[in-house]
Parts: sequence; structure tokens; C-alpha cells
Amino acid sequence: MSTLPAVAADVTSTALTVIAPDGRCLWSNVATRRLGVRPEELPLSRAEPDGPAVDVPWPLADGDTRWLRVRCHDVRHDGQPLRLYEVRDVSVERRERDWGRNYRWRLAHIEQLAKVGTWEWDVATGHVIWSDVLLQMFGFPPGTALDYASYRELLHPDDVALIGRTLETALGVGGPFAYTHRMYLSDRTTLRVFECYGEVFTDPSGAPVRVLGTAHDITEMRQVQDELIRLAERDPLTDLPNRRALLARLDDLIGAAGESPGALLLIDIDNFKDINDVHGHVVGDDVLRVLARLLVRHLPTGTVLGRLGGDEFAVVLPRTPAGDALAVAESLCDVAARTPVPLAGAGLRVTLSIGAAPVGPGVTRDTLLAHADLALYEAKDAGRNRARLYLPEQYRHAVQRVNVVTRVRDALDQHRMHLDAQPIVDLTTGAVVSHELLIRLHDGRQPPLPPADFLPTVERDDLIGDLDRWVVATATTALADPAVAAAGTCFDVNISARSMESPGFGDWVVGVLRAAGVEPGRLGVEVTETAAITNVAAVRNLAGALRDAGCRLSLDDFGAGFGSFSYLKHLPFSTVKIAGDFVRQADRGGADPVLIDAVVRAAHGLGMRTVAESVERAELVPALRRLGVDAGQGFHLGRPVPLEDLLDHLRDRRHTAAVPRPRDP
Ligand code: C2E
Ligand code: CA
Ligand code: CA
Repeated sequence: MSTLPAVAADVTSTALTVIAPDGRCLWSNVATRRLGVRPEELPLSRAEPDGPAVDVPWPLADGDTRWLRVRCHDVRHDGQPLRLYEVRDVSVERRERDWGRNYRWRLAHIEQLAKVGTWEWDVATGHVIWSDVLLQMFGFPPGTALDYASYRELLHPDDVALIGRTLETALGVGGPFAYTHRMYLSDRTTLRVFECYGEVFTDPSGAPVRVLGTAHDITEMRQVQDELIRLAERDPLTDLPNRRALLARLDDLIGAAGESPGALLLIDIDNFKDINDVHGHVVGDDVLRVLARLLVRHLPTGTVLGRLGGDEFAVVLPRTPAGDALAVAESLCDVAARTPVPLAGAGLRVTLSIGAAPVGPGVTRDTLLAHADLALYEAKDAGRNRARLYLPEQYRHAVQRVNVVTRVRDALDQHRMHLDAQPIVDLTTGAVVSHELLIRLHDGRQPPLPPADFLPTVERDDLIGDLDRWVVATATTALADPAVAAAGTCFDVNISARSMESPGFGDWVVGVLRAAGVEPGRLGVEVTETAAITNVAAVRNLAGALRDAGCRLSLDDFGAGFGSFSYLKHLPFSTVKIAGDFVRQADRGGADPVLIDAVVRAAHGLGMRTVAESVERAELVPALRRLGVDAGQGFHLGRPVPLEDLLDHLRDRRHTAAVPRPRDP
């Protein structure tokens, strides 16, 4: 075969070999010999005659495996059927290809695991290649041809500008960049959040050539993050912003004070401790929740209600001048007082005290809170269930408040507390049925303090318990006086909500009366309607102890609070005292006589007596009598006089003592 074709066969890099039907090699070229084995030992059998080339592994003696690409041709030579094999060593080629395939597979796998897709942007052509994983993240099948314009249409319109700016800057300066954006998926409905990192590659002249980037779907992570932020800023009980969030809003408010006025409201639930003590914490929590919902519904839009902790709430009111803030606060007091909190069985009336403070010049968060707190204190001091606006004079009041408690404590210790007695008169017979005892502070200090000015302050202090016991003890001592007992005189004393709820107070009263040998029916206890309705269970306990022993129990100032007839029905009072506001004009028509009539009917129907307060004019007596009111009390029927004077009068009655006269003011 030393012909031209044979020469050509020897220079090609493809091994050629001719095999006879019996397996013997008839001919091979130089490239075959370079493979280093006899042609008969080559793995040729897998290649079909005139079929496609097949890659065949070829294990070597040293343990390595090489790959041969074998093609087989049927040839005839001298009438004999022979096979010509082309054999090429493709080991290197295959290794490179496998590595590449493997690399791409691994990359895709990592992308899938990490939920990260990759993209590559050819700056010159504007062509973008998206990895299959990224396309799938966008909701497209792998291999979809997605051009930049179509991609841009899916971006959230609010984020397009941001992406544009970021890429523009990155192309200008080169290097890495990052942005987060929202994007609709291929369905054009599902919105997801992607976080992208990229890097701009430049040519030696610094011109951008390629941009490589990743995109990471962080929608769920964002949701978790948002939820964490929400949790960190929410009060779990009421789901309102918590203290932290509220203080942040307050900082915003102070920051914006230059542009528009703003105000802060501090809200405190009246007697919340008592609600908790009497009804339990579960009810207390319910009250907080219900109230939170109620207040939110009644606040102007743009305001933020939050819970500062305990029973304290606060409202941040942007763009609100001081007067409007006070009006908002008053409307909240109003709606709370009008809306009973539904509880098992009955509705619990909850009242609020609110302090409002405007953001003034140079005010800080702490001073604003302090101002609102002072105003809140004023609201409580003025009898609760009301709102007050911070006024600079309140600093003075705050100092005075400390003095009030000290003055009352000193007066108790130094016997400078006194009682006045005001007769309660039967409207039919004109007989005095009892005397209400009213506390007086006579300590000679300035300014003089009437009960309305010192009681609310003392009621916020444990001192109120001592005061109420002192009143009961003093009344009992007076009742035990033989002259007073002989006259059959009765007294009615006022007690505060705190004493009413103090367990055992009723038993203590009964014990004191028994120890003094006083018939219990001669002492009555008055609790105000406002105190009674927020503490129904406590009234019931107190009533149980007092009425079992034969003491009277009066519901004071009925109508001044909510005038709720349902409470009358549920609470075992012996007497209802109709608040002066309804009495003063009762002889002049209008709504007052109608209301009095209704109260009298309800009370009598429940076996209770009625007393009209503030009977200031003679004309009222026949009018009230016609309405069926049993008794009256007021300046016309008898002014309060010092108890001592009354006692002196009773002791000397058989002699010539004058009728006691009111104290000099
Ligand atoms: P209250 O229980 O409704 O007592 C009646 C108040 O009306 C008394 O005021 C009395 O002086 C006044 N008053 C009597 N008749 C008339 C009248 O015809 N016209 C007008 N305008 N007022 C009349 P006071 O003594 O200033 O007592 C105010 C409140 O302080 C009492 O209202 C009561 O809630 C409370 N308080 C008085 N003494 C005590 C006490 O010893 N302990 C407690 N916890 N509270 C007391
Ligand atoms: Ca009273
Ligand atoms: Ca009263």
C-alpha cells in the first residue's frame, strides 16, 4: 500500500485500521500505532458499520480511562468484505465538555437552592441573558427569550426609576451595585420582591462592557422582616402601636412642629386598678381591648393611638391646634362614658381622664410627656371622666398637690378635720330623718380647701382609706352619745370608691357600730353613682355586709353620672339620692320633672326610698312632693352646720339651746 493514499493516511491524526472478518488487522496507519497497542486490542466492536461515530471508554493498564471516538465503514477489497475503522482519542475534548456541562449544572443547582438567579447584560448590544432559574423565578419556562423591554414592563412602576438610576450610576463608575425592587411575575398579577447584586466589567479603557448580576427573591424574607418590625412595634394585647412606636411618632410630631401645630393626648382609665381587682385580670384585659377598638374608631384620620403600658394610652395628633386637641380629648371621654364595655351579664361603664399638651416651641419629647401628664393629673383631680389641656400654671398646681396630701394628713393627725351635718327632711311630714355628714378641712392654712378641692387628690393616695375610717368612727362616736341616741338621730356618711372596694370595709363598719353599741340602722353609707357603676361587684359585697347588719346604703348623685336604671335594678340600695342638677328647676317644667318621676317610680318599684338633693327654694318642696319624692336635702331645708354644734344642740335640747347655725365661711 505504499501508494499516495497510504502516505496521506500516515499524516492524518485519525487512527485508521482495516480489520478482516476473522479479527486480524490487515492494515493500520501511523496514528494507530501511536495509540500504543495492537489494533486488534482496540475497543472497536461497539461501532456499527456505516453507523454514527460512538464514544467508547478505553481502560488503560495504568487504571486511567481514555475515550475513543470510533466510526466503522464497510469496505471491499479484492472481493473480500473488510472493515475500516476511524479512531480518534477524544479524552481531552470530553473532559472539557464534561467539566463545562457539570459546571453549568452545578451553577443552576446552586441558583435553585439559593433562590438566586443570574443575568448577564452585554452593554454594546443591549442583549440580556437570564439564567433558567431566574426565568423560572419570574414565572417563565426555562429558555424563554425575554428582552429587556418586556422585562421592564413587569417592574413595579414605582421602582423603575430607582433601577434606572442605580444602573446608570454603576455604568458611570464601574464596579459593584445593589438594589431591591418589586416586580410582577409572568402572570402580571403576582408581585414579588427581588434583591439584586451586580457588577459592571469594563474594558481596558474603562468603558463598560458587561454587567453581571444576581437576583434573589426575598418576598418571604421581607414578609418575615415586616412581621418582626410589626411585632416589635405592636402591643400584643390591643394590637395598637406600643410605647416604642408611639414615642417614635411623637418624635416625628415634634420634628414637624415648625410646619404645623401638633398635640399629644395622655389617656388614663379611671379606677382601672379597681376593675382589675374586682372583676379580675381577664376582664381588665377585655376592657383594654374593647376600649382600644372604640377609641380608634372615634379618632380623626391621621392620628395614632398607642398603648403606653398598663391602662395608659396616648394619641399623637398631627396638624392639630391646642383647642382642637382638647375637643378630640373631650369627645373620647364622652364616647367612652356613653359606651358600656360588654361583659358577661352586664355592661361595665368605663370612664377616661385625658391630658392634652400642645407641641410648643422648644418642647422636647420628655417635656411634652410631662406636660400631658400634668394635664392628665388635673383631669383626675377635677373628678375624673374629663379632659384637661396643659397650661403652664399647672406647674404651680403640681407643687400644690403635694401640699394637699400633706395638709390633709396633718389635719387628721392634729384633729383639724371636722364634719358638718346637713339635715335630710321628710317632704311630707317635715321631720328630719337623718343628717348627711360632710367633711371639712379647718387647718388655718391658705388657701382654704373645700372637699371638692382636696378629695380627688386624697383619693389618689392611700390616705383616703384613713379619712373614710375617721369619718365612720367620728359618726359612730357621735351616734353613741346618749343624748343623740335618745333623740333617735341618724347619720349618713360618704365613702370613697377605694374604701368601697377594700375587702372587709363593710364588716369593719358593722364592727365599729357594734363595739360602740349603736343600732346599725342609724348609720347610712353613701356611694356615688360614678363609683358604683365602675365597681358593681364591690358595691354588691359592701351592700351584703351593711344591709345584713341593718345599715342603710344610698346611691349618691344619681343622674350626675349615667343615670343607668339597670344598675338600680342590680344593686341593693336602700335609698337613691337624685342629683341636684335635676332638682333645682324641677318646679319649672321641662325634662327634669319627667326624669325625677321616672326615678321615683323605678326606685319605689324596687323598694327604695328617694331623696332630692339641692333643694334650694321653697317652691321645690310641693313640686317634689307631687312627684312622689320621699325626702329632700338642701340649703332651703337646712344648711350644713358643724357636727359639734348639732351634738351640743341635741344634748341641750331639753334646755334652751338655740338651733345650730351654719359655720362662718
Ligand atoms: P355630696 O355627697 O353630694 O354632698 C352634698 C354636697 O352638696 C355638699 O357639698 C353640700 O354642702 C352641698 N349642698 C347641700 N345642699 C346644697 C344646696 O342646696 N345647693 C348646693 N349648690 N349645694 C348643696 P360639700 O360639703 O362641698 O361636699 C362635696 C362632696 O364631697 C360631697 O358631695 C361628697 O361627694 C364629698 N364628701 C363630702 N364629705 C365627704 C366625706 O366625709 N368623705 C368622702 N369620701 N367624701 C365626702
Ligand atoms: Ca353624699
Ligand atoms: Ca350627693
